[in-house]
Amino acid sequence: MKYIILVGDGMGDFPLESLDGRTPLEAADTPVMDFLAGRGRLFRLQTVPPGFAPGSDVANLSLLGYRPAECYSGRAPLEAASMGVELPPDAIAFRCNLVTLERQDDRQVRMVDYSGGHIDTATAAELIGLLDRELGDDYCRFYPGVSYRHLLVWRRGCAGLQTVPPHDHSDREVGEYWRRYLAVPGLGEVVSRAAQLLAAAPANQRRRENGENPANAIWLWGEGRPPAMATLAEQFGVSGALISAVDLLKGIGVYAGMEIINVPGVTGYLDTNYAGKVAAALEALKRHDLVFVHVEAPDEVSHQGRLDDKLQAISDFDHKVVGPMLEGLQRSGEAFRLVVTMDHFTPLATRTHADLPVPFLLFDSQRDARDPACADGSCWMEPVRGNYSERSAADAELLVDGREFLSLLLGND
Ligand SMILES: [Zn+2]
Repeated sequence: MKYIILVGDGMGDFPLESLDGRTPLEAADTPVMDFLAGRGRLFRLQTVPPGFAPGSDVANLSLLGYRPAECYSGRAPLEAASMGVELPPDAIAFRCNLVTLERQDDRQVRMVDYSGGHIDTATAAELIGLLDRELGDDYCRFYPGVSYRHLLVWRRGCAGLQTVPPHDHSDREVGEYWRRYLAVPGLGEVVSRAAQLLAAAPANQRRRENGENPANAIWLWGEGRPPAMATLAEQFGVSGALISAVDLLKGIGVYAGMEIINVPGVTGYLDTNYAGKVAAALEALKRHDLVFVHVEAPDEVSHQGRLDDKLQAISDFDHKVVGPMLEGLQRSGEAFRLVVTMDHFTPLATRTHADLPVPFLLFDSQRDARDPACADGSCWMEPVRGNYSERSAADAELLVDGREFLSLLLGND
């Protein structure tokens, strides 16, 4: 038996007046998901436990069978794993943004740009290299990532430090949060020395001359210790592979002991290489029991507030991911159980994540919801239409956490 989880990030939404009271998932053209809903079974899953912010990290942990309350320790350790950085057990990983601050003194600080002008990766690597040379030691290490997204591994104390994500404070006064860093012995010196070094760096001179925002400070957030996560094999006795354009997802996969498959041409957007992802997933199923395919586009366009693009992203997910996966699985002749789901809602009305239970559908090639006698797989291509949507699953059985979800998929229920 093979197991497949297909995730349309942020597909969930509310009914919209401009769609005559339908949600984007109801209004988009989704013949394959509707077919599967008619032949399979709908459920709901609480991917974001009470008390957690509805981040993609927490929600996707649930979709991989974890209980975030037992293992989630912050996003930076997951990103570290995706960068291939192994954390010592006593380390704290921080996401280290290169940002642009306007700073009169340590009292008046404004977050001009959380991305340091979307700094290019090569220039950023030069600056992060400088910081690591000047400030790095066994207890403090900088690692370069992509564009403005980097990593600081800290092995001294910082108890009680509460950080905030810089992108939530664009164009706002952040002196209060800046001074929190300065108050931590050791870390305060690193943060303020980094600002001095960055301000004087030749790369930033060039940026100023070109009219670009200088990356003149670091901003630390998303911190956490290495998560204590059992692998999928240890927890459920299955091997898995993960396909995603998003580093955070890959980091979760690393801790889950999955094979991370990097597909050329994936962008995390509408122009991603859907066919490449499907081909890689079908290939991976020859080596693994379970494959997890994550598609980022519906979430990105929801954050941008674009209805037309959301309809397009959902319809692409149906036509270019779910459909070809189903065809490929059917061709392989192997028995399979397939889940189509989202990690969380990203309503267009709010343009941010919401923590409602998500609808998902479970299709079993050997077990037909309408006709339990149809065991040979020959009757499931009949044109029976259902509907995969927030509304159609509104009264469906609610699973309370990821462990319950993966146990159901694996038939351990
Ligand atoms: Zn997400």
